Amino acid sequence: MKCKLCRKDKPLKKSHIIPEFLYSKLYDEKHRFHEIHIDAKKKNRLPQKGVREHLLCGECEQYFSKFERYASLVLNSGFELTVKTIDGILNFEGVEYTQFKLFSLSILWRASISSLDFFSEVNLGSHEEVIRKLLISGEAGKEQDYPFLLSPILHENEIQEALIVKPTLSAIDNNEAYRFVYGGIAWVFVISENKVPDIVVQASISKAGILKMIPWQMTKMGFIIGMAEDAIRNGKL
Ligand SMILES: [Zn+2]
Repeated sequence: MKCKLCRKDKPLKKSHIIPEFLYSKLYDEKHRFHEIHIDAKKKNRLPQKGVREHLLCGECEQYFSKFERYASLVLNSGFELTVKTIDGILNFEGVEYTQFKLFSLSILWRASISSLDFFSEVNLGSHEEVIRKLLISGEAGKEQDYPFLLSPILHENEIQEALIVKPTLSAIDNNEAYRFVYGGIAWVFVISENKVPDIVVQASISKAGILKMIPWQMTKMGFIIGMAEDAIRNGKL
């Protein structure tokens, strides 16, 4: 069997599409998110826990796991980051652009190559190969290449941290946009078919190392509000 990333004939591992750590609780009483007064005690049932499929060889699994370790440190307060709230948007400073972006793109790409029904709406077409090349090169591309928006999902002022929702296809300004929900956060990946609106690029991770998060009830974007509402509804099934 051919590894989907390096394309070598090798025994394939059972790979996670969404890394295991994103299925677990991301926030606790000590977590920095309490700086914005979010009470995250409530836990929902985990749907689709541990969805896996034979996709990658051991070497490529190891390669992705480096980015996963880094992202889990960022998202789980594994090291100190400066957080500033500007106009209701959280700005995490000191996040390594390449590692965090490759981590994020690796999930989008894995969902696209997956044959599992859970990811059936994610089909990147020709972008699948572009992203595969970015991933294997270890370079994350420009800020306007496949930017993504992060939005912690709040419901009655609590982060819905144990929520994983089937990814869906939507659109932002004639660009395809895939909405994922995991780790209590909605991730919206914008596929750069046309010019991606500047506002999207500015709200995504920057090469200067600023990762932004838009708590959904503060956002003015109906798209994200609709997504969060869907997420909450689905999580209550
Ligand atoms: Zn491989």
